[in-house]
Amino acid sequence: MEYQISYKRELNCKEKGLLKFLFQREKKDWVLLIDNLKVIARCGCGNCPTILFGKSFEDKISKGYLLIDYYVKTKNQGIVGIGLFGNDEIPTQLELYSVDGLFEINEIPENYHQAKKAII
Ligand SMILES: [Zn+2]
Repeated sequence: MEYQISYKRELNCKEKGLLKFLFQREKKDWVLLIDNLKVIARCGCGNCPTILFGKSFEDKISKGYLLIDYYVKTKNQGIVGIGLFGNDEIPTQLELYSVDGLFEINEIPENYHQAKKAII
């Protein structure tokens, strides 16, 4: 993701559900953090569900590195990659993208609970 759009709101149920799904498997100590996260920005394309997190709406975008790498096969969006970025403190970004580049991903897949860990 090359640029971001400032975009402030609370996380919705699906976003919280997906984070919970990922953290329960890969980073249990962050499950309790979910309710304190705010969405502070979104991907610059303005269409995909990729969002950036802060602890408050005043937070600046912080740098993170890829911590969790999952994917899920969907009916209409092909294989959707799910990348969770973070630093030592908090998750910084939830990225969703088309793995084969053929689809525009415009929402979190309904079947995200079927996601599997990507094997590199
Ligand atoms: Zn995007």
